[in-house]
Amino acid sequence: MANHKIGIPFVISGPSGSGKGMIVREILKRDSENYRLSVSATTRQPRPGERDGVEYYFISRKEFEDRIAAGEVLEYTEYCGNYYGTLKSEVENLTEAGINVILEIEIVGGNNVRRIRPDTLLFFVIPPDADTLRKRLRGRGTESEESIEKRLARAEKEILLAKDYDYLIVNETDRIGAAADEIMQIVEAEKHRMRYHFDRVAHLFDPADPVGEQ
Ligand code: 5GP
Repeated sequence: MANHKIGIPFVISGPSGSGKGMIVREILKRDSENYRLSVSATTRQPRPGERDGVEYYFISRKEFEDRIAAGEVLEYTEYCGNYYGTLKSEVENLTEAGINVILEIEIVGGNNVRRIRPDTLLFFVIPPDADTLRKRLRGRGTESEESIEKRLARAEKEILLAKDYDYLIVNETDRIGAAADEIMQIVEAEKHRMRYHFDRVAHLFDPADPVGEQ
């Protein structure tokens, strides 16, 4: 499908501790040219090691609300007491340039993005079982016990909202590569959808415009 640039926006959601962040890093490691991460804005405090503009844009509540008012936010939500949101600027230019954009956001946001951009694919990542989830969350060592409890309670409720998601990815322990492959294969398959190529089909027998390429 030469000369036909298609960038797919896709959401990866899953409970805290599902390992979705590691899967995202693996995808970017495998193909940093064709895949980028949308950096969200948040009002939560940075964790040790997190850098402004890399993991998130860390901004104040006032700035967040100003950006919403200015129409710069594609979707946002309040999660465990903080705002989190996707900036339009992180998604639009890249998909237009043929780059697949990963949105690592929670389910309500994922469903909202799809309403705004129906070409978005939705992936839901779960750990193999609930015990693994608990262990991964505690093992991270970055959250207080109160925050862990909040996140577990949220995970239990959130999972039920995933029924409109497109794909389930089970993130087995020590199989990050397999999970990344599954997602990348589905994204590549998506690019073959007829709706992205019908121009070419329609022009195949037109000598004035032999392949209808853009
Ligand atoms: P954390 O505090 O662990 O970095 O993120 C908490 C939750 O917020 C995660 O489920 C994460 O995917 C979600 N999140 C991060 N950025 C965004 C965003 O831009 N929009 C929405 N809706 N959720 C987000």
